[in-house]
Amino acid sequence: MQIDASWTLFLDRDGVINNEIKDGYVLSWDMFHFEEGVLPALNHLAKKFSRIVLVTNQRCIGRGLLTAEGLQEIHTRMLEAISAKGGRIDRIYYCPDIDSNSPCRKPNDGMALQAKADFPEIDFSKAIMVGNTLSDMKFGKDQGMTTVFIPSTKPDLPFPHPQMDYRCKGLLEFSELIQ
Ligand SMILES: [Mg+2]
Repeated sequence: MQIDASWTLFLDRDGVINNEIKDGYVLSWDMFHFEEGVLPALNHLAKKFSRIVLVTNQRCIGRGLLTAEGLQEIHTRMLEAISAKGGRIDRIYYCPDIDSNSPCRKPNDGMALQAKADFPEIDFSKAIMVGNTLSDMKFGKDQGMTTVFIPSTKPDLPFPHPQMDYRCKGLLEFSELIQ
Protein backbone atom coordinates (compact mmCIF):
# COMPACT_ATOMS: atom_id res chain seq x y z
CA MET A 1 0.00 0.00 0.00
CA GLN A 2 1.61 3.22 -1.15
CA ILE A 3 1.11 6.15 1.20
CA ASP A 4 3.01 9.26 2.19
CA ALA A 5 3.16 11.26 5.39
CA SER A 6 0.04 13.26 4.50
CA TRP A 7 -2.17 10.21 5.04
CA THR A 8 -4.40 9.68 8.09
CA LEU A 9 -5.09 6.41 9.81
CA PHE A 10 -8.49 5.78 11.42
CA LEU A 11 -8.59 2.83 13.79
CA ASP A 12 -11.48 1.06 15.42
CA ARG A 13 -10.69 -0.11 18.96
CA ASP A 14 -12.43 -3.33 20.07
CA GLY A 15 -11.35 -6.26 17.91
CA VAL A 16 -8.51 -4.24 16.37
CA ILE A 17 -6.45 -2.72 19.19
CA ASN A 18 -7.72 -4.93 21.99
CA ASN A 19 -9.56 -8.22 22.27
CA GLU A 20 -13.26 -7.67 21.84
CA ILE A 21 -15.32 -9.07 24.69
CA LYS A 22 -18.10 -11.23 23.29
CA ASP A 23 -21.54 -9.98 24.35
CA GLY A 24 -19.92 -7.54 26.75
CA TYR A 25 -17.70 -4.52 27.17
CA VAL A 26 -14.26 -3.58 28.38
CA LEU A 27 -15.19 -1.89 31.65
CA SER A 28 -11.80 -1.65 33.35
CA TRP A 29 -8.10 -1.78 32.52
CA ASP A 30 -8.00 -5.36 33.85
CA MET A 31 -10.35 -6.31 31.03
CA PHE A 32 -8.28 -4.60 28.35
CA HIS A 33 -5.93 -6.94 26.50
CA PHE A 34 -4.03 -5.86 23.41
CA GLU A 35 -4.47 -7.94 20.29
CA GLU A 36 -1.31 -9.75 19.30
CA GLY A 37 1.28 -7.57 17.57
CA VAL A 38 -0.56 -4.29 18.08
CA LEU A 39 2.24 -2.52 19.96
CA PRO A 40 4.97 -3.17 17.37
CA ALA A 41 2.43 -2.39 14.65
CA LEU A 42 1.68 1.02 16.18
CA ASN A 43 5.39 1.71 16.53
CA HIS A 44 5.78 1.25 12.77
CA LEU A 45 2.56 3.05 11.84
CA ALA A 46 3.49 6.06 13.99
CA LYS A 47 6.46 6.63 11.69
CA LYS A 48 4.34 6.43 8.55
CA PHE A 49 1.17 8.42 9.32
CA SER A 50 1.06 12.04 10.40
CA ARG A 51 -2.26 11.47 12.17
CA ILE A 52 -3.61 8.36 13.85
CA VAL A 53 -7.09 8.62 15.33
CA LEU A 54 -9.25 6.13 17.15
CA VAL A 55 -13.00 6.01 16.50
CA THR A 56 -14.92 3.77 18.84
CA ASN A 57 -18.56 3.09 19.65
CA GLN A 58 -18.93 2.67 23.41
CA ARG A 59 -22.59 1.97 24.14
CA CYS A 60 -21.55 0.80 27.60
CA ILE A 61 -21.49 4.48 28.61
CA GLY A 62 -25.04 5.16 27.43
CA ARG A 63 -26.12 2.02 29.22
CA GLY A 64 -24.61 3.27 32.46
CA LEU A 65 -22.10 0.41 32.73
CA LEU A 66 -19.06 2.70 32.51
CA THR A 67 -18.61 6.42 33.13
CA ALA A 68 -16.81 8.79 30.78
CA GLU A 69 -14.13 9.07 33.48
CA GLY A 70 -13.79 5.29 33.59
CA LEU A 71 -13.32 5.17 29.83
CA GLN A 72 -10.79 7.98 30.05
CA GLU A 73 -8.82 6.01 32.61
CA ILE A 74 -8.71 2.94 30.36
CA HIS A 75 -7.59 5.10 27.44
CA THR A 76 -4.90 6.83 29.49
CA ARG A 77 -3.39 3.45 30.40
CA MET A 78 -3.76 2.23 26.81
CA LEU A 79 -1.92 5.30 25.48
CA GLU A 80 0.83 4.90 28.08
CA ALA A 81 1.39 1.30 27.00
CA ILE A 82 1.41 2.33 23.32
CA SER A 83 3.85 5.19 23.78
CA ALA A 84 6.14 3.04 25.95
CA LYS A 85 6.65 0.95 22.80
CA GLY A 86 7.19 3.94 20.52
CA GLY A 87 3.66 4.08 19.12
CA ARG A 88 1.14 6.90 19.05
CA ILE A 89 -2.57 7.64 18.83
CA ASP A 90 -3.18 11.35 18.35
CA ARG A 91 -6.85 11.63 19.26
CA ILE A 92 -9.59 9.37 20.54
CA TYR A 93 -13.23 9.83 19.56
CA TYR A 94 -15.95 7.75 21.12
CA CYS A 95 -19.70 7.58 20.79
CA PRO A 96 -21.46 6.87 24.10
CA ASP A 97 -24.93 6.70 22.60
CA ILE A 98 -27.24 3.72 22.57
CA ASP A 99 -29.39 4.86 19.66
CA SER A 100 -28.16 3.49 16.33
CA ASN A 101 -29.36 6.72 14.70
CA SER A 102 -27.05 8.83 16.82
CA PRO A 103 -24.98 10.88 14.36
CA CYS A 104 -21.75 9.97 16.16
CA ARG A 105 -22.37 6.23 16.19
CA LYS A 106 -20.54 4.36 13.41
CA PRO A 107 -21.39 3.81 10.61
CA ASN A 108 -22.78 7.36 10.83
CA ASP A 109 -20.24 10.03 10.01
CA GLY A 110 -20.10 12.11 13.20
CA MET A 111 -16.69 10.98 14.43
CA ALA A 112 -15.15 11.41 10.95
CA LEU A 113 -16.50 14.95 10.76
CA GLN A 114 -15.28 15.71 14.27
CA ALA A 115 -11.79 14.52 13.32
CA LYS A 116 -11.88 16.69 10.19
CA ALA A 117 -12.97 19.69 12.31
CA ASP A 118 -10.07 19.11 14.71
CA PHE A 119 -7.54 18.35 11.95
CA PRO A 120 -8.69 20.31 8.85
CA GLU A 121 -5.74 18.92 6.89
CA ILE A 122 -7.35 15.46 6.87
CA ASP A 123 -8.09 14.36 3.31
CA PHE A 124 -10.45 11.37 3.39
CA SER A 125 -9.20 10.23 -0.01
CA LYS A 126 -5.84 9.86 1.70
CA ALA A 127 -7.12 8.02 4.75
CA ILE A 128 -7.40 4.38 5.76
CA MET A 129 -10.04 2.93 8.09
CA VAL A 130 -9.15 -0.30 9.86
CA GLY A 131 -11.94 -2.17 11.63
CA ASN A 132 -13.48 -5.54 12.36
CA THR A 133 -17.12 -4.92 11.37
CA LEU A 134 -19.09 -4.00 8.27
CA SER A 135 -20.15 -0.88 10.16
CA ASP A 136 -16.49 0.20 10.25
CA MET A 137 -16.13 -0.54 6.54
CA LYS A 138 -19.22 1.52 5.70
CA PHE A 139 -18.02 4.37 7.93
CA GLY A 140 -14.78 4.49 5.94
CA LYS A 141 -16.29 3.93 2.49
CA ASP A 142 -18.93 6.65 2.99
CA GLN A 143 -16.10 9.18 3.36
CA GLY A 144 -14.09 7.78 0.46
CA MET A 145 -11.44 6.16 2.62
CA THR A 146 -9.51 3.00 1.85
CA THR A 147 -10.80 0.22 4.11
CA VAL A 148 -9.03 -2.66 5.80
CA PHE A 149 -11.00 -5.48 7.36
CA ILE A 150 -9.65 -7.40 10.34
CA PRO A 151 -11.51 -10.71 10.70
CA SER A 152 -10.94 -11.04 14.48
CA THR A 153 -14.62 -11.49 15.34
CA LYS A 154 -16.25 -12.10 11.93
CA PRO A 155 -13.93 -14.53 10.16
CA ASP A 156 -16.75 -15.83 7.95
CA LEU A 157 -17.50 -12.59 6.12
CA PRO A 158 -16.65 -13.11 2.45
CA PHE A 159 -13.71 -11.42 0.81
CA PRO A 160 -13.50 -9.90 -1.78
CA HIS A 161 -16.30 -7.65 -0.54
CA PRO A 162 -17.50 -4.34 -2.01
CA GLN A 163 -16.90 -2.48 1.27
CA MET A 164 -13.44 -3.97 1.94
CA ASP A 165 -10.35 -2.94 0.01
CA TYR A 166 -7.99 -5.13 1.98
CA ARG A 167 -8.25 -7.92 4.52
CA CYS A 168 -5.47 -8.38 7.08
CA LYS A 169 -5.20 -10.90 9.89
CA GLY A 170 -4.45 -8.13 12.37
CA LEU A 171 -2.91 -4.70 12.79
CA LEU A 172 0.59 -6.17 12.53
CA GLU A 173 -0.09 -7.67 9.11
CA PHE A 174 -1.61 -4.35 8.03
CA SER A 175 1.47 -2.45 9.25
CA GLU A 176 3.67 -4.73 7.14
CA LEU A 177 1.80 -3.56 4.03
CA ILE A 178 2.68 0.05 4.78
CA GLN A 179 6.14 0.83 3.50
MG1 LIG B 1 -14.55 -3.25 16.63
